[in-house]
Amino acid sequence: MSLERIPVEQLDSPEKNRISRNRWLLTRRTCQLLMLALFLAGPFLGLWVIKGNLASSEVLGVLSLTDPLIMLQSLFAGHAVYVTAIIGAITVSLFYVVVGGRVYCSWVCPINMATDLAAWLRSRLALSRDLVIPKQVRYVVLFLVPFLCWQTGTIIWEFVNPITIFQRGLVYGAGLSWGVVLLVFLFDLFVTKRGWCGALCPVGAFYGLLGAKSLIRVNAGRRNRCTDCGDCYQVCPEPQVIVPALTGEKKGLSPLILSGECTNCGRCIDVCPENVFNFSHRLTNIRP
Ligand code: SF4
Ligand code: SF4
Repeated sequence: MSLERIPVEQLDSPEKNRISRNRWLLTRRTCQLLMLALFLAGPFLGLWVIKGNLASSEVLGVLSLTDPLIMLQSLFAGHAVYVTAIIGAITVSLFYVVVGGRVYCSWVCPINMATDLAAWLRSRLALSRDLVIPKQVRYVVLFLVPFLCWQTGTIIWEFVNPITIFQRGLVYGAGLSWGVVLLVFLFDLFVTKRGWCGALCPVGAFYGLLGAKSLIRVNAGRRNRCTDCGDCYQVCPEPQVIVPALTGEKKGLSPLILSGECTNCGRCIDVCPENVFNFSHRLTNIRP
């Protein structure tokens, strides 16, 4: 399906059915689970499509992929870094520079399933406790990580990174890893809405910066249809990114959601009853 077009019958339908209200959510979940299955198929079934984990892997024995943040940590820690790992980090970085850095968060990261569940449960249970943590804290953590790697000579974030702990736990025994995921889930559920990814996780902050100028963008191209129902803000993990695109027409602002903090999750597209949003790209000729 074209990223730019929504079927005409859907454009004019006042009600979306259950499937179209969750189309991108279902696609993302499939992608996240498929990714995990591919990583686990090697150790458990002997099907080595991907060897390794999200930190560092090899696809079909030819394509090396390395998490660029882990590469940075290794460099700051003073570890020897292999050329294949550098090529892998550049490959991964280029991919996210084009598709949007935080696509990692919503389409790849397994922790996202726990944080999405916490957000959904919060709204179902009408939990309102929301400890205010400035979103900038994640950038402070991000800049602390290399500093601490340099000081300790270790890739220090990976000792506490829930993504790494969870993936390692799945392969070598999941006991502790479930505990870490549970902590993140309980934090988001009871302490603050979308707190882990939205305010603390340096991985999301890193990928947000990496994809700040990415090509693939969500477009609020039909913003004149908006009825201010608030559904998009409700489901968006980074609702602040919607405001300029949706409400900035009078100020001459583009309807493209341009913030690198947008995860390109597609939930706003799914839930908007007026079909205001669609996936598009930065080069679209859009009149503000
Ligand atoms: S979900 Fe659609 S109609 Fe509702 S506030 Fe968002 S853009 Fe407007
Ligand atoms: S603006 Fe839309 S695509 Fe971007 S993070 Fe929010 S819900 Fe997801």
